[in-house]
Amino acid sequence: MPRYPEKIENLINSFCSLPGIGRKTAERFVYFLLKQPKVSLINFAKDLTELHDHHFFCPDCYNFSENEGPCAICSNSTRDRSTICVVEDIQDLLSIENTGIFHGLYHVLGGKLDPIENVFAEDLTVSKLKDRTQKETVAEIILAISPDIQGEATIIYLRKLFQDSNIKITLLARGLPMGSDIEYTDEVTLGNALRGRQELK
Ligand SMILES: [Zn+2]
Repeated sequence: MPRYPEKIENLINSFCSLPGIGRKTAERFVYFLLKQPKVSLINFAKDLTELHDHHFFCPDCYNFSENEGPCAICSNSTRDRSTICVVEDIQDLLSIENTGIFHGLYHVLGGKLDPIENVFAEDLTVSKLKDRTQKETVAEIILAISPDIQGEATIIYLRKLFQDSNIKITLLARGLPMGSDIEYTDEVTLGNALRGRQELK
């Protein structure tokens, strides 16, 4: 006999599929939601169902955007358009932006290469990055990618992709601990890693 009615069990399983959420936490979410007024739940459900119908992403860099056009960073004419900082996800972009020392543009890859988990270059925004470098004059690409195994594979791939171009490819200084997430690195350490970036030959 299942512990919960089927609909509740389904909801618990949906929460369990979120990153970092275990069964106990998922159950707590459901108990909490059961006590909420219907209107809050309708609004919550509406926000969820609309996630796929709206264009939240910048068509150039894949940062969040308020409308269908370029994001606030891409459309800011004071940003240095010759430097692109490549990050794994938007949280990493925000972490770097919070250091206040980077004034170029970004490119959000949407993940890292991971053949074991079936993540290949075509699953990331790699071809768009290549397009951007062909349309704009880009002098430097900073690979701000966490240095774990998948990160190393991604860095090697991108290095190869641009080896015949005149673009300087740089890496964050190795102040970041191995496998550490850029998102969780404090601003001072991240700022220093950015300032001390080195060319990848
Ligand atoms: Zn953008």
